[in-house]
Amino acid sequence: MPNEKQQAPADSFDVIVIGGGPAGYPAALRAAQNKLSVACIDEWKNKDGTFAFGGTCLNAGCIPSKALLESSELYYRLQSEFAVHGIKVSGAALDLAQMQKRKAGVVRTMTQGILTLFKAAGVTPLQGHGKLLAGRKVEFTAHDGSRRTLSAKHVVLASGSAPIELRSAPFKAPEIVDSWGALDFEAVPKRLGVIGAGVIGLELGSVWRRLGSEVVVLEALPDFLAFADQQLAREALRHLKKQGLDVRLGAKVSGARVTGAGVEVSYTDAGGEQRLTVDRLVVAIGRRPYTEDLFSPDSGVTLDERGFIKVDEHCRTGAAGVYAIGDCVRGPMLAHKGKEEGVMVADLIAGRYGEMNYKVIPSVIYTAPEIAWVGETEEQVKASGREYKTGVFPFLASGRARAMEQAAGFAKIVASREDDEILGVHIVGPLAGELIAEAVLAMEYSASSEDLQRTIHAHPTLAEAVHEAALAADKRSIDAPNR
Ligand SMILES: Cc1cc2nc3c(=O)[nH]c(=O)nc-3n(C[C@H](O)[C@H](O)[C@H](O)COP(=O)(O)OP(=O)(O)OC[C@H]3O[C@@H](n4cnc5c(N)ncnc54)[C@H](O)[C@@H]3O)c2cc1C
Repeated sequence: MPNEKQQAPADSFDVIVIGGGPAGYPAALRAAQNKLSVACIDEWKNKDGTFAFGGTCLNAGCIPSKALLESSELYYRLQSEFAVHGIKVSGAALDLAQMQKRKAGVVRTMTQGILTLFKAAGVTPLQGHGKLLAGRKVEFTAHDGSRRTLSAKHVVLASGSAPIELRSAPFKAPEIVDSWGALDFEAVPKRLGVIGAGVIGLELGSVWRRLGSEVVVLEALPDFLAFADQQLAREALRHLKKQGLDVRLGAKVSGARVTGAGVEVSYTDAGGEQRLTVDRLVVAIGRRPYTEDLFSPDSGVTLDERGFIKVDEHCRTGAAGVYAIGDCVRGPMLAHKGKEEGVMVADLIAGRYGEMNYKVIPSVIYTAPEIAWVGETEEQVKASGREYKTGVFPFLASGRARAMEQAAGFAKIVASREDDEILGVHIVGPLAGELIAEAVLAMEYSASSEDLQRTIHAHPTLAEAVHEAALAADKRSIDAPNR
């Protein structure tokens, strides 16, 4: 018997998702799993003119940056660490073209994988521009210019974000570039300037530093990682500086100009007017919601004062049956946040249970050591006036970290003194991005620090640091002195 999906007319769907990034494509897949007819429209165009699903994350963000971070870390460790392990290497050399080729291959495999998933689930992929009109009609303009009007019972907007341009340092490729440009350098810049010591600036700065660039990172704010736990931030900065990242805080860029000698950057800091000349300049000061030509004024969708699509806690816009998810709505601009919003709305549309726990979203910075956290910082808990306790365990005391020659950093837990509930976990150290998952799960279940204390962790593992940090919160750490 033909199912509902096969009977749906080609131009009419239960759900149309506009945007095929890490928010949009999971929404489309989950809606199809829920037996709804689904189309996913995406307009992403690569620099070589090819089209691909996956949005910023797969094409120009999470995945290519992690591919280069991995390769550059291997190169760096080969030079700085292998000798300690008793491995002598000679003749090691950088082949940047191969490194970039591998990165492109990883990206291609991942983005093509989305089409395979769509095919298996029965999602109709439509490559081109989508625009929401009144009454849940969607105007679809294919890349060849042909136009159709589609209709849907539900529409999900997942149009993502775009890099913010700095007025005093406008993009001028190839010298002054955004993060996408900085992932595609064909040669290692001798001197690299990065504006913005946020997640993206630090990751890109690390890649090129490890490959040999002299890297200066200019950050306007006086505090390093002002949004993170400050004990964590101080420890991370110490290690990044040791690797040669020249991070200058309180440095406000006032101009950047391409000259024969490179890019002349002027900035002011506590010492007054400063100048810096670099070969390439990366502007990584943040991203803004991207909603260009996404909906007509009579669609019922509205923006807030910062340009994000206005939604409630279930990602419903002001228009009936229209949802918005991912970077184009409030909340942290993270792929996994968008993914869970996509899954939530696709379940809600199908009449199932759907909920997001915005309090428990992990953040990871993939530097070395990695920096990861979930929940509240010590500063936030302190400011709220609640009684709290902290436990810190240094990786120096971890047998596994020592064996790996990766004993930098610590795991820290912040828990309530009143009922022992874990309020935040902050890790700087080896594979912190993986370790944080245990803390996320614990917090999702409203675990206490005692719950973690009584959970058996395999030895020797890095995860023991999280266990010991929980013990340290009650001054019961076994493998480090309790202070
Ligand atoms: C260098 C870098 C590194 C990053 N690393 C990480 C990381 O490690 N971990 C992490 O969680 N996050 C990371 N991010 C952030 C992450 O990429 C974003 O949070 C994520 O991509 C947001 O997903 P999204 O689906 O909302 O938007 P996007 O990924 O931006 O996708 C939106 C898609 O919609 C398309 N689109 C827009 N408007 C229309 C329209 N009208 N019609 C058709 N299509 C349209 C766009 O072309 C795009 O393909 C990184 C970002 C950058 C730049």
